[in-house]
Amino acid sequence: MKTVTEYIIEYFEAHPSQEIEHDKVVDYVFKFIPKARDPWRAIRKLYQEGWLIQVRKGVYKRIPGYKGHNVLAPFSQEIKEAIFKRDNYRCIVCGNGLHNDYEICADHIKPQAKDGQSTLENGQTLCSEHNLMKKRYGTTNFLKKYCETMIERAKQHNDIKTESLFKDILEVLKKHNLS
Ligand SMILES: [Zn+2]
Repeated sequence: MKTVTEYIIEYFEAHPSQEIEHDKVVDYVFKFIPKARDPWRAIRKLYQEGWLIQVRKGVYKRIPGYKGHNVLAPFSQEIKEAIFKRDNYRCIVCGNGLHNDYEICADHIKPQAKDGQSTLENGQTLCSEHNLMKKRYGTTNFLKKYCETMIERAKQHNDIKTESLFKDILEVLKKHNLS
């Protein structure tokens, strides 16, 4: 008895280098496992792992010997470098970075635990402090904590304009039940 993924692999290997609609593959799986759970997801996973090529939405291709970048793994060195470069080697929250000897790291905007992928688009540069903050509070709470920090700092500098800006943002978060 084969698994859903094994049937999918079998189908693509029997049709090398062809553009294939995922529904055809799913039908094939259902012939053997009528109660297969979410074979679409299994196909997408093979693509995310770099085994399949996605030609366009819902259409995939297997090229024998092809091994793409596994987007479910941590950021590759190459992607990490591309994220840092795009963000000018600075934390996108506070602006500290390599230029003033701050540690930077590549963070998943949408966490991997929630299917966030290790792509350039899903990456952002953070300093260790803000990376920890985000890991601890998640994106929304992170934003809330950040606003509170900025309000505190603005108060210390008697900067009424900045203080009122971040107070407004906090209000917006509250309005959308995000805090
Ligand atoms: Zn920072």
